[in-house]
Amino acid sequence: MYSQAQRNPYRTHAAGELREENVGERVRLAGWVHRRRDHGGLIFIDLRDRWGLAQVTFHPEQAEVFSGAEQLRPEWSISVEGEVVRRPQGNENPDLPTGAIEVEATDLSVLNPSETPPFEIERDRPVDETLRLKYRYLDLRRERMKETILFRHRVVKRMRDYLDERGFLEIETPLLTASTPEGARDYLVPARLYPGQFYALPQSPQQFKQLLMVAGFERYFQVARALRDEDQRGDRQPEHTQLDLEMSYATQDEILDLVEGLYTGIVEDLTHKRLLQSPFPRLTYAEAMARFGTDKPDIRFGLELTDVSELARNAEFKVFRGAVEAGGSVRGIAVGGLESLSRRQIDELAAVAATGGARGLAWLKLEGSALNGPIAKFFSEEEGAALREAFGVAEGDYMFFVADNDPVVFESLSRLRLHFRDRLGLADPDVLGLCWVTDFPMFEWNEDEARVEPMHHMFTMPREEDLPLLETDPLKVVGQLYDLVANGTELASGSIRIHRPELQQKVFDVIGIGPEEAQRRFGAILTAFRYGAPPHGGIAPGVDRLIMVLRDQPNIREVMAFPKTQAARDEMMDAPGPVTEDQLKELHIALRRPPEGEPGSNPATRPGEAN
Ligand code: ASP
Repeated sequence: MYSQAQRNPYRTHAAGELREENVGERVRLAGWVHRRRDHGGLIFIDLRDRWGLAQVTFHPEQAEVFSGAEQLRPEWSISVEGEVVRRPQGNENPDLPTGAIEVEATDLSVLNPSETPPFEIERDRPVDETLRLKYRYLDLRRERMKETILFRHRVVKRMRDYLDERGFLEIETPLLTASTPEGARDYLVPARLYPGQFYALPQSPQQFKQLLMVAGFERYFQVARALRDEDQRGDRQPEHTQLDLEMSYATQDEILDLVEGLYTGIVEDLTHKRLLQSPFPRLTYAEAMARFGTDKPDIRFGLELTDVSELARNAEFKVFRGAVEAGGSVRGIAVGGLESLSRRQIDELAAVAATGGARGLAWLKLEGSALNGPIAKFFSEEEGAALREAFGVAEGDYMFFVADNDPVVFESLSRLRLHFRDRLGLADPDVLGLCWVTDFPMFEWNEDEARVEPMHHMFTMPREEDLPLLETDPLKVVGQLYDLVANGTELASGSIRIHRPELQQKVFDVIGIGPEEAQRRFGAILTAFRYGAPPHGGIAPGVDRLIMVLRDQPNIREVMAFPKTQAARDEMMDAPGPVTEDQLKELHIALRRPPEGEPGSNPATRPGEAN
């Protein structure tokens, strides 16, 4: 609600809040000319402020004001005074909260005229995104964008209130600090006072929040910026916002329940969406992979994977048998409700599976009592019956199979599953299928760099019973890790942390960080753990992605006030940009530009552009 505490020269009321109760009052309004219409000798202005729209009428009898109104153009900033009157019968607009009234202007002042905006503010038409980002302050004037920013405020306020009520303290942690790795590159800031040395911007407040537990605050949160210099693939931003939180003496279930309570409240009270299931289902990583082929499952629809490796092991069909013999698997999904697929359509499905690495897509179709398709001839009647039973297929259903190593099988079938979701409209967009995925492997094998990497981050506590495996078979170790997933999108990741220095070093050892390097890079936390560090754990729900999912936005740029482009540029502020020789000198920096003709050799051009 707009409230006017003092006399104000620009306005007495918010335009969007005028109602029938105000009829008869003299008011002053300030805002933008949203729309101007000249009608039967009258001029109508829709005046827009943050609170909404009000119609202002200018009568020719008020000669001076009327001629002023004739000059007005969209997006001029004006202040008008007048009387609130009931709209003439038949002219009410039931779609507008202020639609029963209008203001008859008796005074008009132009606060600031406007150039013609580069795109329409008044209507929600598609506009080139680079143009929108260059003039973001105008883009944000548009209704849809404004609503998103207001919604985001309400969600973040709810987060703060919820955690405050439960004894969490909001504590800020530094932006200029040493590196906290979360799997991305650091953004570095040269330290003027220390030639040749750099601060790192935090990839997350991870180490600080753990140190706050050692400091004894027990329950911490922060609406924190995470800065990650990632290769710009997919829907990423150099900076994003997390609801970062940490608790001492917490169990995994407590943290999951805490976040679940918060999200349930947000969805039920602040959106029109419905929760698919409450409490949210909790799947282990192994279960999520086996059923959905991914650790970010969209659980709103079926088409779950069926493992037929055992049957395939003895099958005559060489591709199936070969995959199992090589240590892989054969799995598939059954899909009903498809028309008879043409050769070309099957090829298209194979192309979808290929994006996950599959080298082919085998299929069978149940017609009458027979399984048909190019590979049908390889299966005996018995095997056919076993397949039908495993998939539970009905007349006309297709079965699609991928035979390969497990990662390829999972990724390909998961993509195929999502393809059918969209094609057959299997998931209700107004339903939120929230679920937890737990018990992730601690480590994964980085094929390119031929080394073991932490799956989440290196501060995660292994499962108690897996501790001996750290030395013998680290890739088998399961971590006390959990992710919150909504409709196939990861919304939050967290873990129970290590709180003892010896164990932390053991984990560092697995990923190739010896004691000396560990001391150099993570000395503070290793030392802190020697002073009675309490057991603790936490999580960091992503704010941008949550807003995106709740408001059905296609990417996270739509839910940030000032995002960067996909090429990591700020088009509005023209950043990044060159600095002066003097600045570089002060920082003790000499530039080493790539050789003439290579990308980046000319500082005036942007990545991807020719020099
Ligand atoms: N720091 C982690 C991240 O940014 C979240 C957490 O473990 O709390 O992903």
